[in-house]
Amino acid sequence: MTGRGEARWARDRLVERFGDVFVPASDPVETLVVTILSQNTTDANRDRAYQAFVARFARCEDALGVDAKALAGVIRTAGLQDQKACAIQAALQSILARAGRLTLDFLRPLSTEQALSWLVALPGVGDKTAGVVLLFGLDKPYFPIDTHIRRVLSRVGWLKAGTDPHRQMNTVLPHDVELMRTLHLHLIRLGRTICRPRRPDCFACPLAERCVYASGDKTKQKEGISR
Ligand code: SF4
Repeated sequence: MTGRGEARWARDRLVERFGDVFVPASDPVETLVVTILSQNTTDANRDRAYQAFVARFARCEDALGVDAKALAGVIRTAGLQDQKACAIQAALQSILARAGRLTLDFLRPLSTEQALSWLVALPGVGDKTAGVVLLFGLDKPYFPIDTHIRRVLSRVGWLKAGTDPHRQMNTVLPHDVELMRTLHLHLIRLGRTICRPRRPDCFACPLAERCVYASGDKTKQKEGISR
């Protein structure tokens, strides 16, 4: 089975279990702010912090008009608020300095690789954060990998030992925005609820049929999947 075939099989099993995903259109700068807020916290706390951010700042630019302490106070429900306030202001300031205005819409006509290069040059923005902006804010086919997805894909046997997971998955997966969005959101859900860091519940898992960890054959995990 090719990586494309495996990805479509996994997408179908996850949708059977968790249902279709609905992703509303979102502005890429707002997506970047939400992604920074989401680090090391729950979705509920991230959402509360972002609601407070939107209520306090009519435009993202306005978050640059206050000092970092004041911004940290607004987003405190996200946790790590001092660190996140500095990260948000540094990223917004850098976009403003490099693009001349606070927008990322000029990345839309660029290739995924070009847009990725631009985004990872922002302070504090790595492959995962840039990938979320590309996939959810700019409708570009780039698969972002967080700790849950990395753990699940390692156990399933998709990730080849010793390779960069973003590079590997973005070579192997079909360049299909909807498929990538569904896999991204549902693999996080799987990692939080079933394929937990300790004692994964393989009996309840929709991917168990093709999972290397569940089969007990750990040698296959080193091979990964290929195109
Ligand atoms: S079968 Fe078990 S180890 Fe494999 S993905 Fe599912 S929960 Fe994780």
